[in-house]
Amino acid sequence: MTLHPLKDEELKTHFTITYKPEAKYSYTAGQAISNFLKGLKEGKILGRKCPKCGKVYVPPRMYCEECFCPTSSWTQVSDEGVVMTAVASFISWTRDRLEEPEIVGTIRLFPSTSRDYVYPGLFHRICCSYEEVKNMKIFGRRVKARWRPTEKRVGSIDDIECFEVI
Ligand SMILES: [Zn+2]
Repeated sequence: MTLHPLKDEELKTHFTITYKPEAKYSYTAGQAISNFLKGLKEGKILGRKCPKCGKVYVPPRMYCEECFCPTSSWTQVSDEGVVMTAVASFISWTRDRLEEPEIVGTIRLFPSTSRDYVYPGLFHRICCSYEEVKNMKIFGRRVKARWRPTEKRVGSIDDIECFEVI
């Protein structure tokens, strides 16, 4: 069998369809995230607790990935925590170039009791400078959620504007 690249005239002999789909999606947040978003509207960060290991999942999960059992209860965690990861992004969510970088990262939140361990953490904006990311001083810093005013909360992760260093 002999193979050869397609020539321009060969490409023109093919029937082509130009179609722009107008797909619309409706996505259900599911039991765990729905309740989590409802909590945000009320100014609470909620997690799901595993009855075996005591790990509190934030964002919440209905199953413990270590014990392979259902998480059994809702628990509120602190809106304060520690910066575990941080990155400066010069690309916006809509893929536009940003003059000033947006700082995002993972915040491990503090539990409501000393026996709990909150895992894995919220990925969110961090209100700090680019310098603090470059020189890595933001890592391990204690931060607190800056909430939108109550009347502006809609049950979204954006009900928290960002996490700021305290
Ligand atoms: Zn567990």
